[in-house]
Amino acid sequence: MIKFAMEVCDIQRREGRYFVFEQPQGSRAWDLEAVKKMVMRQGVDISTMHQCMYGLKARDTMGEASAYKPTRVLTNHEALAEALSRQCNGMHRHAHLVGKTACTKAAVYPEEMCTEVLKAVAVIKKGIEETQLYGVDREDMCEDDNMEEVTGEGYNDFYYEGIVDSVTGEGLEPTQVKAGCDEALKYMKSMKVWDRVLRSGVRDKIVGSRWVYAKKPNLVSCRLVAQEFAGSEKREDLYAGTPPMAATRYLLSDTVSRGRGAAGRRRKLMVLDVKRAFLN
Ligand SMILES: [Zn+2]
Repeated sequence: MIKFAMEVCDIQRREGRYFVFEQPQGSRAWDLEAVKKMVMRQGVDISTMHQCMYGLKARDTMGEASAYKPTRVLTNHEALAEALSRQCNGMHRHAHLVGKTACTKAAVYPEEMCTEVLKAVAVIKKGIEETQLYGVDREDMCEDDNMEEVTGEGYNDFYYEGIVDSVTGEGLEPTQVKAGCDEALKYMKSMKVWDRVLRSGVRDKIVGSRWVYAKKPNLVSCRLVAQEFAGSEKREDLYAGTPPMAATRYLLSDTVSRGRGAAGRRRKLMVLDVKRAFLN
């Protein structure tokens, strides 16, 4: 169950969406390998909240009082982490959660906590809308303008974990993904297809990029592609499909049928396939 939850969290994270995962502080879930891995991932925050601060109540022998219920939260957005980080201020008595009824009641999220989450979601939504307004894709790979150049070695290996084939969704071997990405980046470097520019100096719309992974025997082919071309508006001048087999057959047949050309010269047919095309 927890492993499945982590898979869902990872899907959200990889697709540029957000998640919140919570478990009681003392839960064994925090010792599970899948959870520990998620804690280590880029952009994932862990915070602790005390639900008494969100109005969680319980009843014990002394009557109704706040329920402490320390809970840990895993999320990949700081607004959500912040919303769920209230710590007990010690200004109230804590009721002891004993008995099934008390625990079941405490399993319901207090209203204030829900309100805080909704507020955070609104902040995130607003941020996304603003980003879209300025035409900057949220998956935009450009980092801060004054960022040092990041080389392949700088990344930890877990950066390549959990990546799947972009078409089939099949899991991919991290070392092969790393090798594929490194190769693509090496070519981009050697072909000098990019320049670093300041965001402030960009007058046109900034187009995001994303990796497309394809499993091949014994390797993973990785391509860094520009977004917004595939899908709805395919531009004929940018989109290069594989020529249909029928076209190749026609050319072959036609060339052979014509026989030798003028002055008895042999005809030659050449088929070229470009292995790498760069958007530049
Ligand atoms: Zn408290």
